[in-house]
Amino acid sequence: MADTATADKNMTPPDTMRAWVLGDPQELTLKEKPVPVPGKAEVLVRIDAVAICATDLEILSYGTPALIEGGPPFNKNFTPGHEYMGTVAALGPGVDEFEIGDRVTVEIHAGCGQCKRCRMGMYTSCHNYGLNYGDKDKGHRANGFTTNGGFAEYAVNNVNTLIRVPDHMSDEEATLVVTAGTSMYGLTELGGLVAGESVVVIGPGPIGLLAVAVAKALGASPVILVGTRESRNEIGRQLGADYVINAREEDVVARVKELTGKGADYVVDCAGTETTVNQSVHMTNRGGRICLAAFPKSAVSFDLGALAVNNIYLYGIRGEGRSATHRAMAFMAEKRFDASLVHTHTFALEELPTALKYAKERIDDAIKVVVSTRPDAPNGAKK
Ligand SMILES: [Zn+2]
Ligand SMILES: [Zn+2]
Repeated sequence: MADTATADKNMTPPDTMRAWVLGDPQELTLKEKPVPVPGKAEVLVRIDAVAICATDLEILSYGTPALIEGGPPFNKNFTPGHEYMGTVAALGPGVDEFEIGDRVTVEIHAGCGQCKRCRMGMYTSCHNYGLNYGDKDKGHRANGFTTNGGFAEYAVNNVNTLIRVPDHMSDEEATLVVTAGTSMYGLTELGGLVAGESVVVIGPGPIGLLAVAVAKALGASPVILVGTRESRNEIGRQLGADYVINAREEDVVARVKELTGKGADYVVDCAGTETTVNQSVHMTNRGGRICLAAFPKSAVSFDLGALAVNNIYLYGIRGEGRSATHRAMAFMAEKRFDASLVHTHTFALEELPTALKYAKERIDDAIKVVVSTRPDAPNGAKK
């Protein structure tokens, strides 16, 4: 490791890089682009690995929630990808927080720092989202959403969005920090979870599975996972779920009440369907909380009356926040849970279309599919 670190101190970025660029919907092309130059409070990151997120699939098809130059991201020379990690390759003016050669992973949002929400520390709810161009430049950045992201060899990041990666952690595991950080933010910063409270997580996707892991590490009890795919439910058990409810086989609400007495203290809905939103409302105890960690595609009809009469709090969540990624990394660095259980496949950067297909169609039980720029990157399932 020491030899690599020494060699990396001398890494000089090239002038151009390979980057996937979004044309029309679903049209990605691998192109040569100039390597970006870091400004004040920014560093250049040489990207070593980038994970594919369900939100990337949304952006490629529908554009939202990406917003480039005030509009849809199509045909604007935009590079998506937001769950990446790599090595600091150059420092902007005045940066002394990091050194060239440091291994880092990233969180997505760098707020503008001047709006009402940023001043409250809620930089993922920045009121100047996407205002980073022309004379509307407020300095907001959300790489892979409003600025160029990680399906490339290099990206520029604000120093506030960087988290150090310990030597013993693999590239692939390090890409999962933002996912675990999103779960952490939902559980602690939004919902104020404390040890001994009961937690139900609906939907064993990457955020749901890591919400199980983080809730367990935080001392929640019991931690209950609701899912349908047995292969994913099994990973939930390995990540710390005390009980798993198969939604196809059991009455989910009745079973949660049986396990918790009066219902759950905190429900994290990572599915976001009409069925699961209503289940969430009916399985939460009086005065309990719900975090909606999925984005329903259309209006959802749900039992608002039950929510009101039972003093239930409902939180929306848009990614990580309040530096929760740093606290998620502390858990992962201490091996309080094995986030790498969620990583299933790695492909080379030039194989991105194949990697996206695996993620979208869940080929070979794919959960987190990672794309690597390492020359020896494997192609396919994790060994
Ligand atoms: Zn994501
Ligand atoms: Zn702001």
